[in-house]
Amino acid sequence: MILLDGRKVADDLKAKLALDVVEFEKAYHRKPCLKVIIVGNDPASMVYVKSKHMACQKVGMGSEIINLDSNVTQANLENEIQKLNNDNNVDGILVQLPVPKHIDLTAVLKTIDPKKDADGLTFLSAGYLWSDFEHVQPCTPSGVIKILDFYNIPLKGKRAVVIGRSQIVGKPMAALLLKKNATVTIAHSGTENLRHVVQDAEVVVVAAGKMSFFGSEYFNKNHVVVDVGIHKDLNGKLGGDVKFDEVSAVVKAITPVPGGVGPMTIACLLENTIKLARMRMAKA
Ligand code: NAD
Repeated sequence: MILLDGRKVADDLKAKLALDVVEFEKAYHRKPCLKVIIVGNDPASMVYVKSKHMACQKVGMGSEIINLDSNVTQANLENEIQKLNNDNNVDGILVQLPVPKHIDLTAVLKTIDPKKDADGLTFLSAGYLWSDFEHVQPCTPSGVIKILDFYNIPLKGKRAVVIGRSQIVGKPMAALLLKKNATVTIAHSGTENLRHVVQDAEVVVVAAGKMSFFGSEYFNKNHVVVDVGIHKDLNGKLGGDVKFDEVSAVVKAITPVPGGVGPMTIACLLENTIKLARMRMAKA
């Protein structure tokens, strides 16, 4: 079994990004800068946001966390985003999800300038993705592809199943696998006989958001499994959608949780910010 070590791939990418930052600074006399807006103080989201901030600092980028009150109005949140849209020294904007129920996420995503869409989740970015237009790609699926590439997992002509159809993971994951010339199936909560659907695939990306839901009965020795799920059990131990211990014993390759997709999501966020910075400055 090959362990697909996302931490190693992320460290590799971040080392390259640190050099890109130096080059950018030489050319434009400032650092690429990411601003992360978080509404409220959900503990898990706070941890994610801090990890992003620290990762930026590690590669030498500028970064700031903007913590808004959980009762912030839609207008004030959008106003905050507009300020960042108009700030020439800000290259990437990310609104940490989920946002509180009273916030209209569609309107929030529409407010973010696509030229600063570090997460690649605005509607224009999604359109670019499905139209094969050069732009940034959503961080988590982009990280999955980089892990598969790093370990030379063939995708061209292979069957890939994505379990999950969310805007953040499932759908863009399918688009990126398609870009790699895989034959892609999207499975979801309405899919019948999922075990049968998965059976003949070479690559299975699991993003169902169900803790330890998928056991060895779903997998076989031909499967490369990428577990996007991330959950904390009652003892605070992190795990994914896949039962790692039993599944790793039967498959060809698998990502662990933690240490799989998670670190790549952050590294790809930094990569996106630097890419957006370069694109914007080149046009300035
Ligand atoms: P989501 O809840 O928005 O979507 C889950 C999808 O899975 C849905 O489309 C649903 O149809 C499908 N699904 C649910 N149960 C299923 C089942 N039994 N069989 C088949 N399909 C099923 O979740 P999301 O935002 O896409 O996130 C998925 C998981 O990935 C979560 O655990 C989330 O925390 C994690 N995540 C991790 C990272 C990372 O960086 N590692 C980033 C984003 C999300």
